[in-house]
Amino acid sequence: MTSPQATTRQDCLALDAHDPLASLREQFKLPEGVIYLDGNSLGVLPRSTAARVQQVVAQEWGDGLIRSWNTAGWIDLPQRVGNKIAQLVGAGDGELVVADSTSVNLFKVLSAALRITRADSPARKCIVSERSNFPTDLYIAESLAREHGMRLVLVEPEDIAQHLNADLAVLMLTQVNYRTGRLHDMAALTQAAHAAGGLTVWDLAHSAGALPVDLRASHADFAVGCGYKYLNGGPGAPAFVWANPRHAERFWQPLSGWMGHAAPFEFTPDYRPASGIARYLCGTPPVISLAALECGVDTVLAADMTTLRRKSIALTELFIELVESRCAGLQLASPREASKRGSQVSFAHPSAGYPMMQALIARGVIGDFRAPDILRFGFTPLYTRFIDVWDAVEQLAQVLHSGEWREPRFNQRSAVT
Ligand SMILES: *Cc1c(COP(=O)(O)O)cnc(C)c1O
Repeated sequence: MTSPQATTRQDCLALDAHDPLASLREQFKLPEGVIYLDGNSLGVLPRSTAARVQQVVAQEWGDGLIRSWNTAGWIDLPQRVGNKIAQLVGAGDGELVVADSTSVNLFKVLSAALRITRADSPARKCIVSERSNFPTDLYIAESLAREHGMRLVLVEPEDIAQHLNADLAVLMLTQVNYRTGRLHDMAALTQAAHAAGGLTVWDLAHSAGALPVDLRASHADFAVGCGYKYLNGGPGAPAFVWANPRHAERFWQPLSGWMGHAAPFEFTPDYRPASGIARYLCGTPPVISLAALECGVDTVLAADMTTLRRKSIALTELFIELVESRCAGLQLASPREASKRGSQVSFAHPSAGYPMMQALIARGVIGDFRAPDILRFGFTPLYTRFIDVWDAVEQLAQVLHSGEWREPRFNQRSAVT
């Protein structure tokens, strides 16, 4: 499985026949006639989700009503689902909660990290991040930098190390870049940031559930991540937030809502933060969405992450090999070395990436487009087969060679790309 070397469709069928994860595809409800290579943007629907959501709605809400906060354990859902996600990212029990969106959680942990570093060394003026980090991460950091009279310094990935100096307050990075799939060495960069006297905030949006992550071993300071991508939690699923226990009790985050209070049901007028990660909660948890997210997280927990990563690499290697041999004109935009990639592969086309992706989607192969020139393909080893890779490249080759992407219907932009 590690060496794809599949030169025929038959080879791909053989790889699938020996895939130790093959049976996990049964966990999902996949539409007929679709090859889905966009699980890095919105994970697919687990078979268990509809029944579980129906149960929450009809019984827990319909019959149980407000009693269900206690009797159905609603109030514990942020911690319960958080503990499951913790197993996927190398965090301990009670260290991670599910709450709000990735953007909001980033605001909370970046605020906390800035408060900690600035209390120790007020002269530190810089938040360092990657220029091609996901925009919401940069917008949140820009806003906080402005509020604190600091600077947001944006650099290219290969220049990060040289910007970790006496000015550094916080290094804020996404472990796997959303455009290129480039994977940062979380442990090494965290160590370098600490050596410079700063803290780290890691966004795991494209790594949680996609590859083995070890927050504790990497000594990271704070992390956030997304519920609706590789965790299959459904559109707009709540996100997660982790603080290294060594920081958890130092400062509370600024969105000091009642769910992060030490005793929310004492209804006291003053704020007293809960101990540990619970202080990163803000308002009432979205129970139905949390129930759906739990189903998604369970589908990932069913896999061994080392096996999952091995298959992910084999799928992406095969895809690159086939596209490069059959689709002239597309330029690999992801690192060629598998150990430096997450679970996605991006190809650039200088002018026609958008209509090419639209034409491909019309043929039932779903990836996505990221402006200005990136065709992005996500590989989710839980349900993506080697035969899907073969068939997807076959369709892509036909789109390119037929020139059908020139048709006007493929050149009209929708709101969401
Ligand atoms: C998907 C993604 C987000 C999404 O943030 P929302 O608050 O859920 O909209 C944030 N950051 C990164 C790096 C992402 O990939």
